[in-house]
Amino acid sequence: MNKLLIALALLLCFVLSCKKQQEESVAKMDLKNKIDRFAPTELSADLSCLSRDDKIVLDKIVQSAELMDHIYLHQVWNGNYDLLEKLQKNTSEEGKLRYLYFLMNMGPWSQVDNNEAFVDGVPKVKPLGANFYPADLTRDEFENWVKNLPVSEKEKAKGFFYVIRRDSKGNLITVPYSNEYRRWLEPASKLLNEAAEVTTNKSLRKYLKLRAKAFLSNDYYESDVAWLELDSPIEVVIGPYETYTDELFGYKAAFEAFVALRDDEATKELEKLEHYLQEIENNLPIDPKYRNKKLAPLSPIRVVDLVYASGDGNHGVQTAAFNLPNDERIIRDKGAKRVMLKNVQKAKFEKVLIPIAQKVLDQSQIDCVSFDAFFMHILAHELMHGLGPHDITIAGKATNVRQELKELYSAIEEAKADITGLFALQYLVDKGVMDKKLEETVYPTFLASMFRSIRFGINEAHGKGVAIQFNYLRKQGAIDMSDGGRFKVNRIRIKDAVKKLTSMILIIEAEGDYNKAKSLIEWYGNINPATQKTLDEIKDIPIDIRPVYKLIANLPNRIR
Ligand code: ZN
Repeated sequence: MNKLLIALALLLCFVLSCKKQQEESVAKMDLKNKIDRFAPTELSADLSCLSRDDKIVLDKIVQSAELMDHIYLHQVWNGNYDLLEKLQKNTSEEGKLRYLYFLMNMGPWSQVDNNEAFVDGVPKVKPLGANFYPADLTRDEFENWVKNLPVSEKEKAKGFFYVIRRDSKGNLITVPYSNEYRRWLEPASKLLNEAAEVTTNKSLRKYLKLRAKAFLSNDYYESDVAWLELDSPIEVVIGPYETYTDELFGYKAAFEAFVALRDDEATKELEKLEHYLQEIENNLPIDPKYRNKKLAPLSPIRVVDLVYASGDGNHGVQTAAFNLPNDERIIRDKGAKRVMLKNVQKAKFEKVLIPIAQKVLDQSQIDCVSFDAFFMHILAHELMHGLGPHDITIAGKATNVRQELKELYSAIEEAKADITGLFALQYLVDKGVMDKKLEETVYPTFLASMFRSIRFGINEAHGKGVAIQFNYLRKQGAIDMSDGGRFKVNRIRIKDAVKKLTSMILIIEAEGDYNKAKSLIEWYGNINPATQKTLDEIKDIPIDIRPVYKLIANLPNRIR
């Protein structure tokens, strides 16, 4: 090779490697930007209230919970586990970022970017049926197969706790979770049994023992009931629950764990609210004939601080509250339980809501934004779903609000829970049950949080419900815009406007009036240019948090 050619070859190599470096750094930047949308936040709780034994119990439960990560990875995609090991070996800076983002998503698809793949060599589109079904299965094939099965087999095929596989001849078969995931369920079960031996709390011991048994027997009914009755300083839920990962049919439950400590102080605040529910109902701003004479009994609510979450309970945007179980048989027989993760809410408040408040609120009201008000309103929102009209009579016919409002129901019901929540808190302040200070804080806090709810659009029920409230309150002069384009609560008008909107929405529900619901949404359920301008200004504020759990530093099987 002559010198010129060598020089050219060297130049080409240089150019190519430069280009490669450039591409890599763009890819790295991109990945880093993606990760930075989630603010890292240490989550923990006050462990000092736990006895020495309780700490051992907690440690064993967390170890068991950690195994849910392994199962969940396996459930999301059949290539996930091998990919995890491959990504783990790449210790370059970019490799580490990719591994981190993989774990944040529990797979190679970025959830907040419409599941766009961020690792080379994986399917471009996330498999709808995850790894619950054979990769080549179509809806039609499944349905034709199920159609001809005997009833008991049909139940399994569509059931929460069976995966669908092919036998050696290619025929579809059901495999119980207890077999499919035995490799992880056996040690998880053993750890729960060990924890059960140590705990002195009866309801916790019962749940842990029954859940340990369910992991091996594949029958979850009894342990789900025991979870509803669980009343212990350590609040834990572990096992297969939500079905969102199965986007093909929504039948199959994904493994998750939430390990938390009960927050006794917040629970007392909650009881205070619960105590006045019937009285609030009796004073709702609607015709007395629409009020419930006797409210239906409440499902229990627990307020806790999360110390560890795994599997389906820890990816993408973080869960701040959940309602379980999903098994209709249990809900019918025993009801459900709602768990509010207070420290997760607080982290979201600090890392997302405060920065939003600083950009959208008028200077004079930024300091009014408070976590206590934020959390009280979340609790009130949850409770208000239980108040107001549900079963209604239209033209002599018994029906319910959901049926009458059809596809508009969710947005209207979410708006109702928010606005009636404000009404209820004001009622309790006026009565002297709640601190007068709440009146100062709750409205500006809600105003800032409205921007948090609508910043990603109003296609979903919560966002649309919030847009209705925001625009209505603006129209009523209860939210003003200051010269700098920032928003502020009009203290003179807000109370009346809240009461009026509460009344309007409750009457729509009481009368099951689809047309009125539709015009309310058409009038108010949108984003106008001034609001959009403000939304553009907050687009760089984190979407959510990335939890860092202090407690798990020394776990043996840890992948996170
Ligand atoms: Zn709600």
